[in-house]
Amino acid sequence: MKEWLRFIPAIHELKSNKSFQHILEHSGLDDLELTKQLRFLVDTIREQLLNESWSGAHPSSGAFIDELFGLLEKNVTQQYAYTLKRVINATGTILHTNLGRARLSQNAIFHMIDTARHYSNLEYKLEEGERGSRHSHIEVLLKVLTGAESAMVVNNNAAAVYLILRALAKDKEVIVSRGQLVEIGGSFRISSIMEESGATLVEVGTTNKTHLFDYENAINEHTKMILKVHTSNFKTIGFTKTVESEELVNLSSQHENIIFYEDLGSGVLYDFTQHRIGDEPVVKRIVELGADLVSFSGDKLLGGPQAGIIVGKKELVEKLKKHQLARVLRVDKMTLAALEGTLLDYLKGENGRMNIPTLRDMLWCKEEIKSRATDLIKKLLEMAPEYEVALMESTSQVGGGTMPDVELPTVVLTIKHPRVSSAALAKKLRVDCQPAIVTRVQNDELLIDLRTVEPEEEELILNALQIVGNSII
Ligand SMILES: *Cc1c(COP(=O)(O)O)cnc(C)c1O
Repeated sequence: MKEWLRFIPAIHELKSNKSFQHILEHSGLDDLELTKQLRFLVDTIREQLLNESWSGAHPSSGAFIDELFGLLEKNVTQQYAYTLKRVINATGTILHTNLGRARLSQNAIFHMIDTARHYSNLEYKLEEGERGSRHSHIEVLLKVLTGAESAMVVNNNAAAVYLILRALAKDKEVIVSRGQLVEIGGSFRISSIMEESGATLVEVGTTNKTHLFDYENAINEHTKMILKVHTSNFKTIGFTKTVESEELVNLSSQHENIIFYEDLGSGVLYDFTQHRIGDEPVVKRIVELGADLVSFSGDKLLGGPQAGIIVGKKELVEKLKKHQLARVLRVDKMTLAALEGTLLDYLKGENGRMNIPTLRDMLWCKEEIKSRATDLIKKLLEMAPEYEVALMESTSQVGGGTMPDVELPTVVLTIKHPRVSSAALAKKLRVDCQPAIVTRVQNDELLIDLRTVEPEEEELILNALQIVGNSII
């Protein structure tokens, strides 16, 4: 093939081909960048000719030119594509940490876009024409929604825990029940974050039982804080005892300098127990009990952006705001905009709340999901009759390490293809489809749970299944 080398057209000749112009117009690349790509491709082909691995046409043929520009277009499409991309979550797990936890409401999204596109009064008081505080935009909303005196926001709840321990309990003792020394998501352990913060962890009680007297006995002149951690990602059952927040509030208030801080983990602003879902206390209740500080995530059951929300006593929150670390952990304007949008949705009552996808997904009842699944099956049987499909009762998970014991009743589609395994089918839906579709595979059946699928996305799933079905020979 070596002698074929001299038939490869020169770069300037290839550049004058109309296919080059076509790719230039459609890719958004400039001439220089696309020429670089072209050179690289021609070099690759040259090498393949030299080591006899080129399987294409002779370089003097028109077919070669077509192949070359086909490859160029493919390379460009692949190299300049986003790796962070949209996924349809057909697993039914609402706060899937690997799939980005909460989706945002329309209001949150529009507010974010507006804030990104234009200048804003992020740290500017329009009335006075003076410097303002970025905390001010969400503080009032959080105060109204939680009943707290003061509020601030940092990057995530892990950062909130760290800031609170570091700013308020460094070189002092913090009492935590052994039953609450949790690890969350692999890299976040209460014990490690405590060590990192410079506070001393004082463990009390046992794994299954901690009593009020365990806390009482641990208090001494070095004690600065009692920390209660919501054991959100696991449940202890059987012979257990934890001390209620109320009792810990009482205990800490008997001591002048002891702060009671509750890390609520998910932290809900909406009471799911009224629908008999889980037993998460609303943040407002913990604040009302008299907790000095409460922190929780923005992107778990609240349904907003990634954030760590801190609410509580004004004097303490002011200290946190002034601490050096607050600057390190501060959120950007996009997060604030998304959070403000989400919190305003809550304030609008039922209509507003139902704009928050996380809440909507939590509250879909089985009958609603079943009726959507039934419609989808009918369409699928028409469009792609080769699949074996059925409906099956199942449960959806909340995910994100929250409400581990809650199983939301649902109805899933079970799908099998006569010629490929369900694992292979699932992979095709993830890899070959745009947007990628992530499903559950269970007992060699592919399961689609519409709880986390938007009604507009059903059409995309149908089309994807049809295309994937056609590709299996
Ligand atoms: C999830 C969780 C965290 C960490 O929150 P992020 O917002 O993910 O950083 C901390 N504490 C508890 C109890 C949690 O459940």
